[in-house]
Amino acid sequence: MSLKQAELKRKHSLADFTTIKIGGEAKHFFAVSNIESLKKVVKNCQDAFYILGGGSNLLVDDNCIEKCVIKLGDEFSYIKQDKYLEVGGSTPLSKVIRYASVNNLGGFDNLAGIPATIGGLVAMNASSYGREISAYLRGVEVMDSRGNIINFKKEEIVFSYRRSSLTECIILRVWFEAVKDYDTKAKINNFLKTRMSKQDFEFPNCGCIFKNPETRPAGFLIEACGLKGLKKNDAQVSLKHANFIINLNKASYNDVDYLISHIKENVHKKFDIILEEEIKRWA
Ligand SMILES: Cc1cc2nc3c(=O)[nH]c(=O)nc-3n(C[C@H](O)[C@H](O)[C@H](O)COP(=O)(O)OP(=O)(O)OC[C@H]3O[C@@H](n4cnc5c(N)ncnc54)[C@H](O)[C@@H]3O)c2cc1C
Repeated sequence: MSLKQAELKRKHSLADFTTIKIGGEAKHFFAVSNIESLKKVVKNCQDAFYILGGGSNLLVDDNCIEKCVIKLGDEFSYIKQDKYLEVGGSTPLSKVIRYASVNNLGGFDNLAGIPATIGGLVAMNASSYGREISAYLRGVEVMDSRGNIINFKKEEIVFSYRRSSLTECIILRVWFEAVKDYDTKAKINNFLKTRMSKQDFEFPNCGCIFKNPETRPAGFLIEACGLKGLKKNDAQVSLKHANFIINLNKASYNDVDYLISHIKENVHKKFDIILEEEIKRWA
């Protein structure tokens, strides 16, 4: 590939880019700083690419990843407020939370503390405490796998539980309603406190492994099977939140995969429920 501008970086360990700190090298890792570079990279990768956000919902194989891995750089990380709130695709949620806190804007407080980017949150339609990120979304600008830039209004996008119709595109920017709120800082702090008390922030992890079935939360089912604390080498079912698997030190993809299979088997046997994975696997 002759991609002078696209900042091709070889031998990049993806463990450094995932919150669970697991993952092998990317054969082609592109840290892309602007639209023109992104277009070139996308065209060269010919559909065979992964787009990396905050790496907070990924389980990446320890072996070399053959597909191109694309990470949006600083030009895609910004917040602008006019009639709507415009947020770049690679903007960390923490930046949006700070902005919302200072400017008394609602719609994000319930997500505070999730270590993700806006692109990743919208692609996954992340939700927390009963509200999805799509609730106040107005539209998005994406690049498709041929390098075309397309705008979608909210009505043109399908959002459901932990899913959106944007998974085949690269989310470049998102427009949200700028919802005036009050006491936003206090609300954010309350949500943060609840999150810290319920989720595991002590060891690296990738958030909830499984989607919640309609009947009962996955964490409840896993705990009821007596699997809290179960270990495979350095991977462990969190003692704090049974739907989290933590990396105690040097856990591998296979260690986590083993625990996932074991959990699925046990939950199926005891409750006749098939757990569906929420995490995205890259192999
Ligand atoms: C401690 C912790 C707590 C969490 N709590 C919650 C929670 O309360 N609610 C919840 O819903 N999730 C939660 N998660 C999971 C995770 O943060 C979300 O799924 C989030 O949406 C992932 O965003 P990301 O930027 O990290 O994306 P990544 O993990 O990097 O990628 C996830 C998916 O999004 C795609 N993607 C990333 N960026 C883009 C982009 N710009 N354009 C198109 N596709 C893109 C990736 O290709 C991949 O398919 C938690 C995770 C952790 C570690």
